[in-house]
Amino acid sequence: MHGRMMFQPLLISSLLEHAAEFHKDTLIVSKNTDGSLYETNWGDVSDNAKRGAKALNELKLIHGDCIATLAWNNHRHLEAWYAISGSGLICHTINPRLFPEQLIFIINDAQDKAIIFDKTFLPLITGIKAHIPLVQHFICLDAPDEKIRQALPEVLFYDDLIAGQTAEYTWPEFDETTASSLCYTSGTTGNPKGALYSHRSTVLHSLAASLPDSLNLSAKDIILPVVPMFHVHAWGTPYAAAMVGASIILPGPGLDGESLVKLIDQYEVTVALGVPTIWQSLLVAAKAMNSSLTSLKRNVIGGSACPPSMLATFRDVYDCETIHAWGMTEASPLGTANQFKAKHKQLSQDQQAKLRLSQGRPPFGVSIRLVSEERGTDLVPHDGETIGNLQIKGHWIVDKYFGQSDSPLTSDGWFDTGDIASIDADGYLHISDRAKDLIKSGGEWISSVELENIAMGHPEIAMAAVIAAQHPKWDERPVLIAVKHPDSQITEQQLMDYYADKIAKWQTPDKVIFVDAIPLSGTGKMLKRKLREEYGHVLM
Ligand code: ADP
Repeated sequence: MHGRMMFQPLLISSLLEHAAEFHKDTLIVSKNTDGSLYETNWGDVSDNAKRGAKALNELKLIHGDCIATLAWNNHRHLEAWYAISGSGLICHTINPRLFPEQLIFIINDAQDKAIIFDKTFLPLITGIKAHIPLVQHFICLDAPDEKIRQALPEVLFYDDLIAGQTAEYTWPEFDETTASSLCYTSGTTGNPKGALYSHRSTVLHSLAASLPDSLNLSAKDIILPVVPMFHVHAWGTPYAAAMVGASIILPGPGLDGESLVKLIDQYEVTVALGVPTIWQSLLVAAKAMNSSLTSLKRNVIGGSACPPSMLATFRDVYDCETIHAWGMTEASPLGTANQFKAKHKQLSQDQQAKLRLSQGRPPFGVSIRLVSEERGTDLVPHDGETIGNLQIKGHWIVDKYFGQSDSPLTSDGWFDTGDIASIDADGYLHISDRAKDLIKSGGEWISSVELENIAMGHPEIAMAAVIAAQHPKWDERPVLIAVKHPDSQITEQQLMDYYADKIAKWQTPDKVIFVDAIPLSGTGKMLKRKLREEYGHVLM
């Protein structure tokens, strides 16, 4: 017997309908590509999304077609997202920082029928256009511009398209398991692979991400997603913000520390989200600008491990609570978030600080487990110490990669994340490393993250990456690549000595190499692969 309750498919359009009905005048701020600020609200975003959906229909794009977006976090991009997925098309967000060959690969792999782009990326489009024959429409997310038309004669302009439509439109209703959006992994190994999200997975993910023990989002919040919309949907915040009716500040291309501090102070941002490298430059800027980031009550750090020193600075200097979260493209991305339980109130300050460093525990909807590194099938105890391969399962975890028939799952249905971790009895996850970044020194394993965290705790070090360098005797040994603060005179020996009382001697890096900058991936993570290529032989 079925329950006698209404059934409504969980559709992305319903998030926007809710925001438009109950949070119509809630502010949405957008930084344009030219640096100017534009203020709108959920009501207008909803109207424009409907206009956009009608315009896309008129371009003969049909249910299930992939539409690529190549854009910064801005209001037109937000409207386009809802227009695409809401009308039954698939929104394929592309990372503009990929190499042209990767762009061509993923556009052709997804069979994108249209590309919606910010004018900043016009040269990218004209550069690859000859290699993406399936793309029928190029839509510039801007007002008409003759220069762009000269470079790309068939271009359509977003502002024109929506100006030609009324906002009279009813979002279509379809099966909630319909594909809504497509996001490729960054492809550190081989070609990028596509994670194809559904309406259902996206709505459920938004619910889980908004919960108090996750990102704790509500209509009282002013959210600044610094993490780009092309990096796993800005961690789902544009959907979650509509669901809870939060205000959202879209920073456009201005991701430097100074621009972000200005936005936080001007719009009284309450919660901001980004990878550690973003926060690094924000902290430098906040100090230089003498800002106390008064409104910022919490920040979400994920994508790579949050250095303990960063967490302490936010807590002690800015009275800002850091939520350390773990996730991945294949997990939409939220896997775990760090929030205390009631019983943790009794812990000492030191114990609390230690627990806050963990990547946290899963919300309802995600399960996590560890399996033995040697024997992939044996389960590893959740005792907070034993490490194993982290596997996940849940409503918003990938089942198959886009366009691939083989299952990436284990025979009992779990997804192996490629991360090495421990889990404690309360479910708190502690990521030791990515499997490929672990340093295997003479049969012992050394966590690169742990060594980086120590270096980052040194007041004269701005950024640190530890790689496995080949070693004639030990197979691999850790080498630290570090960036000093501009006025620092620190030497290699001084930095090595800094490890003395913090870690076993055999784990201390064999060498320190000072560089001006560490190469970053398109999503702002340290490109250790590149560093390994460059410095992997220094000990041979
Ligand atoms: P990529 O790094 O390849 O661009 P993702 O953005 O999907 O792809 O990254 C997912 C990976 O990032 C995880 O498997 C994990 O290794 C790492 N990661 C994410 N969040 C954290 C975190 N809080 N601490 C440590 N590692 C993290």
